[in-house]
Amino acid sequence: EEGSAGREAGYWRLSKLAVPARDDPGKDFAGVSPPLLQAIAKALKFPVSSMLPEEAFTVIRKSFDARKILKEPQFVYTVDVDVKRLLDLEPRTWDFIARLEPKLGTIEYMPDEKVASDLVSMLNVYKQGSDGELGINDTVNNGSICSPRKKPRVAVVGSGPSGLFASLVLGELGAEVTLIERGQPVEQRGRDIGALVVRRILHSESNFCFGEGGAGTWSDGKLVTRIGRNTDGVQAVMKTFVQFGGPPNILVDGKPHLGTDKLVPLLRNFRHHLKELGVNIIFNTRVDDLVVKGGQVKGVVVSDSRLQLGSPNQTLSFDAVVLAVGHSARDTYSMLLRHNVDMHPKSFAVGLRIEHPQELINDIQYPELAAEVHKGRGRIPVADYKIVKSFGEGDAELPEQNRSCYSFCMCPGGQVVLTSTNPSELCINGMSFSRRASKWANSAFVATVSSHDFRPFESHGSLAGVEFQREFERRAATMGGGNFVVPAQCVTDFLSNRLSVTTLPPSSYRLGVRPSKLHELFPLHITEVLQQSIIMIEEEMPGFVSSEALLHGVETRTSSPLQISRNTGTYESTSLQGLYPIGEGAGYAGGILSASVDGMYCGFALAKQLSLFHGDI
Ligand code: FAD
Repeated sequence: EEGSAGREAGYWRLSKLAVPARDDPGKDFAGVSPPLLQAIAKALKFPVSSMLPEEAFTVIRKSFDARKILKEPQFVYTVDVDVKRLLDLEPRTWDFIARLEPKLGTIEYMPDEKVASDLVSMLNVYKQGSDGELGINDTVNNGSICSPRKKPRVAVVGSGPSGLFASLVLGELGAEVTLIERGQPVEQRGRDIGALVVRRILHSESNFCFGEGGAGTWSDGKLVTRIGRNTDGVQAVMKTFVQFGGPPNILVDGKPHLGTDKLVPLLRNFRHHLKELGVNIIFNTRVDDLVVKGGQVKGVVVSDSRLQLGSPNQTLSFDAVVLAVGHSARDTYSMLLRHNVDMHPKSFAVGLRIEHPQELINDIQYPELAAEVHKGRGRIPVADYKIVKSFGEGDAELPEQNRSCYSFCMCPGGQVVLTSTNPSELCINGMSFSRRASKWANSAFVATVSSHDFRPFESHGSLAGVEFQREFERRAATMGGGNFVVPAQCVTDFLSNRLSVTTLPPSSYRLGVRPSKLHELFPLHITEVLQQSIIMIEEEMPGFVSSEALLHGVETRTSSPLQISRNTGTYESTSLQGLYPIGEGAGYAGGILSASVDGMYCGFALAKQLSLFHGDI
């Protein structure tokens, strides 16, 4: 039959295959179960599902969908079909399949060859682009092999996701990389975080924001992103996580997450691999300044971050400096300002963190299945939610009233943690372990803010947004009364603008909460949109406004308050040659995946400029 030959050679992708949750083996099973085979048979219009060979199908995505518009909660699959395996079926059956026509949205004919978007294949493409024979320790410079001595020297400042991936790519492509991190390696960082949570000792250089793995280490480890799950960059990053010990189901799961217990060993493996590549990793070392000559960065000035009174500075020379410092390196931002590096305030979001008992959220989201969640050990995933509300949208005359309010960094089965880097400022976030087994569900609940809101801080120039954050972090610290106690308020009292007088509901936050007037923390226009949104959410999720729901203050570091200008394509600062600002702190990412991808592509772009390979990126 005409046209079928092309299809025989390729593979098919079946999407939107729904299996009722009551029939599915559950969230931890990513194989082909009999009910899935039935859904596949239905999509193929194949009469007998048991005749289909299980091995012809590979699950590539599995998501749980409990939206109220559905008749019942379901797991939704995307499955690839190995057409050649179907050819093994008896001829009559194959005839039937060969006559199938693509059904819009369900069957997609894919090209013959799958492109393996993993980092190893990407690196090989680039290495082949050089001379096809590039060894890991050779570098190519305009066609001639350089001696290892002449390898370009690159400093990567910050070992968060963006810095790690930049180091990985540059190390693999033959640069001499020094990864400089102000905080501690994960082993000691874990002890420092323990000291914070148990004894209230905040190490200003080793905490929830600073240290190996960056802000994403003691986190929920959600691997969701708005930059496209199936893009080459995201796939390459996800596969690298699996290579370093991440669970393979993150490649299939519709809402993958790692959890702190999986992130810590993964980062240790990442570090060992970088060391094997020859990357020089120096912890407890803070970059305090840049060495600039003739408009070009020539190196960095570092000090030992463990010494409170400062240690003798040391100058290190480099051909390029990748700046991957995250959004909490306010001292580094000030240093960049002194060098007149081009940067400008950028919109972000501020608000509060709301916490409910996890069982309450399970009951709201899927009452009929809530009993099967079993603290993350059951068939059904612990429930989450995502909320977005917009106000005054599109009114160009009143830009300050155009605001969105949304849930952010939702941590089912998690806990509220302190992300301050300084004892006089208080801010919080959420983390979880891989099982998401805690009895609480927390989420940031934030409203967008932009340059109009930063006006009172205009005198700080490009750091106006940073000062805006600081203002509310200080207010929160004062409201909490010190010692990292967090100001808190029942959601019902927040809506009525009154102090919670009855005992507050329990909180997962370990350092204590204090009843406070959180409705007075932000300017009225921000408080009002938060209040209006909560009322609207109650309509969609009855029970959300509950005496058991507790608001915690304050969530300010949702993303970077500024952007460091850089050239598209080269990733180089528009104002300072040799400086490569990347990741969340530079304003080009928001989250573990997008920061990793930004770091990875910067690695390729910089390697090209350093003539480590030729060809296109
Ligand atoms: P960072 O991860 O912030 O790393 C920057 C690094 O640079 C730090 O290690 C810091 O110590 C170092 N550094 C800073 N200044 C200097 C200097 N001057 N010298 C030397 N070193 C320096 N994202 C998600 O996608 N999913 C989640 O579930 C999630 N949960 C989170 C939970 C918490 C508690 C927090 C705080 C964040 C969470 N995030 C989450 C956000 C995510 O962690 C960040 O988006 C991501 O880590 C940004 O990566 P980055 O490499 O740009 O910067």
